[in-house]
Amino acid sequence: MVVGVLIQLSHKNIDKIFDYKVPSRLESKIKIGIRVEVPFGYQKLEGFVLEIKGQSSYAVNLKQIIEVVDEEIVLNKELLDLGKFIKKQTLSTLISCYQVMLPKALKARRGSSVSKKYDIYYRLGEIGEYKLNTKQQEVINLFTQDDLVSRKRLLLVSASSVKTLEQKGILIPEKKEHYRLCYNSENCLKYSLTDEQKQVVNQVLENKEEKVSLLWGVTGSGKTEVYMELIENTLKKGKTSIMLVPEISLTPQMVERFEKRFGNKIAAIHSALSEGERYDEWRRIHRGEAKIVIGARSAIFAPLNDLGMIIIDEEHSDSYKQEDSSPRYSAIDVARERGRYNKCPVILGSATPSLESFARAQKGFYQLLMLPHRVNKKSLPSVEIVDMNEEYKKNVGLFSKKLFDKISEKIEKKEQVILLLNRRGYSSFVTCKNCGYTVKCPHCDITLTYHKHASMLRCHYCGYATNLKVICPECHENSLTNLGIGTEKVEEELHKLFPNTAVLRMDVDTTSRKGMHKKMIEDFRNQKYSILLGTQIVAKGLDFENVTLVGVINADTSLNIPDFRSSENTFSLLSQVAGRSGRSEKVGEVVIQTFNPSHYAISFVKKHDYIGFYKQEMTIRKTMKYPPYYYLVYIRLSGKDYSIIEKEAQKIKKSLERYLEQTIILGPSPASIFKLNDVYRYSIILKYKKESNLYLALIKMDEHYKNNKDIKVEINFNPIHF
Ligand code: ADP
Ligand code: ZN
Repeated sequence: MVVGVLIQLSHKNIDKIFDYKVPSRLESKIKIGIRVEVPFGYQKLEGFVLEIKGQSSYAVNLKQIIEVVDEEIVLNKELLDLGKFIKKQTLSTLISCYQVMLPKALKARRGSSVSKKYDIYYRLGEIGEYKLNTKQQEVINLFTQDDLVSRKRLLLVSASSVKTLEQKGILIPEKKEHYRLCYNSENCLKYSLTDEQKQVVNQVLENKEEKVSLLWGVTGSGKTEVYMELIENTLKKGKTSIMLVPEISLTPQMVERFEKRFGNKIAAIHSALSEGERYDEWRRIHRGEAKIVIGARSAIFAPLNDLGMIIIDEEHSDSYKQEDSSPRYSAIDVARERGRYNKCPVILGSATPSLESFARAQKGFYQLLMLPHRVNKKSLPSVEIVDMNEEYKKNVGLFSKKLFDKISEKIEKKEQVILLLNRRGYSSFVTCKNCGYTVKCPHCDITLTYHKHASMLRCHYCGYATNLKVICPECHENSLTNLGIGTEKVEEELHKLFPNTAVLRMDVDTTSRKGMHKKMIEDFRNQKYSILLGTQIVAKGLDFENVTLVGVINADTSLNIPDFRSSENTFSLLSQVAGRSGRSEKVGEVVIQTFNPSHYAISFVKKHDYIGFYKQEMTIRKTMKYPPYYYLVYIRLSGKDYSIIEKEAQKIKKSLERYLEQTIILGPSPASIFKLNDVYRYSIILKYKKESNLYLALIKMDEHYKNNKDIKVEINFNPIHF
C-alpha cells in the first residue's frame, strides 16, 4: 500500500503530496484524513493521509511511514474538501487551510503535547466463593444502581477494601475520559415567541431555495431567541448546528443562555479556553457528543456530522475575517460553502448588517428577514448628540454638562450606566510642548500610549514598553506632556466626579486574566457597580436590564481612522452600544459626545435609521469605487530593507498592469503603518468588478516570490483593514 501525505509544515515549496509506503502492520489503520508520522529529510514530521493507492507513480525507493498517530480520522471528507475550497479562495498553502481547522493540540506534535485526562471507574466482576466482610459488602452495594462507579466514590467507603477487591478481580478498573469543562444539564428555559419572531422562524424553515438568509433585527428584537428556536428545531431532526459569535466578550452571556436551554449538548470554543479545554471540546464535537457548537471565527470548522443549521450572529463584525495570518479566509464564505455542501440553512444576523450583505439581500441574492421592533414593542432608546466644539467654550472636562447630569440622575435612581471610549490606556500620545516631537515606537511607525497605572509607554501593535519620559529627546526641554484620552484617564476622572460610585473598567488591559471578563459581566449584572466603562468590548451583545443610559465619550475615535469603512464602522459601533440601553422595562437614553455632530454616520444613529445610512453610504461607495460595487485585493510587500521592497513593488505593479485589463491598480505606497516590528511594508491595492486574468496573475506573482528571502508577498482578498 502507498499513501499520499500532506506534510504539516507550511511552506509554499512543500505544499504538495508526498508518497510513502505503508508497512503491512499499519495497513489496517490507514484511512483518508488520518494523521501519520513520516521521515522527511532528516526530520520526523506529521502529515495527513490524503490519498491511498496501490502504487506510486514516482520514485522507486519510497520511504515508509513511521506510525499512524490517531485511532480516528481528524479530517473528514467535508473538511478535506473545504480546505481545498479555502486554498483556492485565499491562495494559501493547503496545509495551512487544514491547520486552521484543528485545535493546537492536533497541529504538529511538539514535545509537551496536551494530554487527555482520565477518571478511574470500576465495574463488578465475579464474586464467586469469596467471602465479603461488611466493609467490602458496602462497597459492592454501590453497584446495585450503576454498572460503573467512580474510584473516588468507592474510596470514600473503604480504601483497603477497594484494593483487596481489585486484587481478587472482583472490581475491574476502567478508564473513562474526563473533560476539563462541564455544562449544567438543560432546564429548557424558553419564551413563547412573538408573532414577528415566529414569522422569521417559519421563513427560514420554509426557504426551499437554499438561499442564505440575512436576519436584520434591531437591538433587543430577540434575535438570540430566534436562533435558539431554529437550533432546537434542528436538534429535533437529529442534526447539528454551528453558531458563530464575534468575540469572547460576547460569549459568556450567550453561552449561559444556550446552556440553560440545551445543557451539555453544547460545546463552546473560544480564545479564552486553555489548549487542553479546547482539545476536549473538539473531541466532544468530533465524537458527536456535542450537537451545538458556539464559538468565534474558527468554530466554523467544527467537525460536526449532519450539519443542519449555521448561524452567524453580528455578521457585520470584522472578526469573521482572518486578516493577520494565512489563510486569510472569511468565516462567512466558509459558512456558505458548508451550507451548500450540507444543504442546510445559513443565517446571518445583525442590527447593522454589513453593506455587502445588505446589498446582496437587496439584489435578492440573500433572503431578507426582518425584526423591526424590540420584543414586546419596547421603544429604542432616545439618542442625544452633544457638540463638543460648543461644550469646550464653557468647560474643558471630558464630560459635557448633559452627560454629567444624566449620569448623576441615573446613579441617584440606582440605575446603571455604560460608557464607551474606544481607546485604552491613559493618554493616546505623548508629545513635546516645545518642539512638537511625538514619542513613537522604535520598531513601529506608531505613537506610544501612556499607561498610568503601570507608569509605562506602550506600543499597542508590537507590545514594546518603556518608562515614561519627561525630557524631550529632541530639544532636551522638560516639556513632554500627554494628550488625548484613554479609558484609564476617564476612569480617574469618574472617580473624581462621582467619588462614591463604583466604576468598572473593561478593556484589554483589565480582562486579560482568564475568567476576569465573565466575572466582570456577572458583577455588573449583580449591580456591584453603577458604571461600566470600556472600549468597544462593551458595545456588543451585552444584555443588562438595569442599564438605562449609554454615554459615548468621543464618537470621533473611530470616525477619524483613515479607512473607507470608518463611517460604516462608526455607525455600527454607535448603534450597537446605543442598543445596550433600555432593553427591559425602563426607558433607555443615549448621549453621544462628538466634534462632528453633523456627520451623517452620527445623525443616522440618532434617528435609528439604518436604511438612511445605507443609502447615503452606498452612493459614496459607488462614486469612490469601493465595495460592494467593487471587489478589492490588498497586496502587502514587506521586508527589512525598504529600498528593495520599493523597487520590487514597482516591478509588480508593471507586470500586473500588463496582465490585468479592467482592474484599477493603486500604489505601490507605504502601508498605513509603514514600519511594524522593524519590518517595512508597502501596499498595492486592486479594485475590480470582473477580471478574468486576476487569479492567474496573482498566482504567478506568488510563485515568483515564494523563494525570495528579501521580500514577503501577502495577498488578502476582500480586506477588512488597510
Ligand atoms: P437581540 O439578540 O436581538 O439583541 P435578545 O434575543 O437578546 O435580542 O432579546 C432581548 C431581550 O428580550 C432578552 O432579554 C430576551 O431574553 C428577551 N426576549 C426575547 N424574546 C422574547 C420573547 N419572545 N418573550 C419575552 N422576552 C423575550
Ligand atoms: Zn511597536
